[in-house]
Amino acid sequence: MTSAPSDASMRDVIVEFCGIVKRYAPGEQPALDGITLSIRSGEIFGIVGESGAGKSTLLQLVSGLEQPTTGTVTVGGVDVTTLRRHGLRTLRRGIGTVFQGVHLLSNATVRDNIRLPLQLARRQSRKDQQVEVDRMLSFVGLEHRAGHFPAQLSGGERQRVGLARALVTRPPLLLCDEPTSSLDASTTGDVLRVLADAREKLGTTVIVITHDLDVVKVLCDRAALLEKGRLREVFPITRTATERILPSYYEQVKRELMS
Ligand code: ADP
Repeated sequence: MTSAPSDASMRDVIVEFCGIVKRYAPGEQPALDGITLSIRSGEIFGIVGESGAGKSTLLQLVSGLEQPTTGTVTVGGVDVTTLRRHGLRTLRRGIGTVFQGVHLLSNATVRDNIRLPLQLARRQSRKDQQVEVDRMLSFVGLEHRAGHFPAQLSGGERQRVGLARALVTRPPLLLCDEPTSSLDASTTGDVLRVLADAREKLGTTVIVITHDLDVVKVLCDRAALLEKGRLREVFPITRTATERILPSYYEQVKRELMS
């Protein structure tokens, strides 16, 4: 039997799923079936599993976009399942999200896309907002693209704008659903560097769904494998210094085609 967690380890937990069952319709196979899992503050946590395993549903529970049928989801000590509109709005202010196909405003520049969450939050003067946006542009390495429009960017650059927009309000938690699946190896590397920097320099906790095990290997501290809605195993990820670098596209092609 494991001992009860100490106060210190409890404080370290940022997201906790406890006995989660999620059924989208009565009588149907549950999308999630008895998930109990803790994610620590400052961790980069991967979620892997075949299509339909329940990965996206699990992520949607964190921001209260879906409610569990039974069980609780706690974020920063707050039980998400008890929150109403105002509480959900406050919760979501502390959560950045990035998806596979990043949706940028096509008629706004990179700078204005990144500034949007600050404008909506209305907590800073326009000048202070500009300072924050400049910081984020430099953080994601896109200072030279500030005045460009989304259609003028590569897929990887668009994804980095999406990341800058998600991080500009400095949320403690970032949720990513397949952030690199439409990118090639070199642009994937740029996006992974931003995610790693978000944890290192901003202290952001990152939860990332990916089908790419190289991404897990390079980026994550731990990864959960879901199988048909059940938690099969949580893997700790260990890596050597060279394994922190994503293999080049050439190396990936060679490995896949020559093995
Ligand atoms: P994954 O992200 O691993 O592909 P999902 O969480 O999207 O898995 O889906 C898990 C299961 O829940 C699947 O069987 C899927 O069809 C079902 N599901 C997901 N979203 C909905 C929904 N909004 N309504 C009904 N069923 C859904």
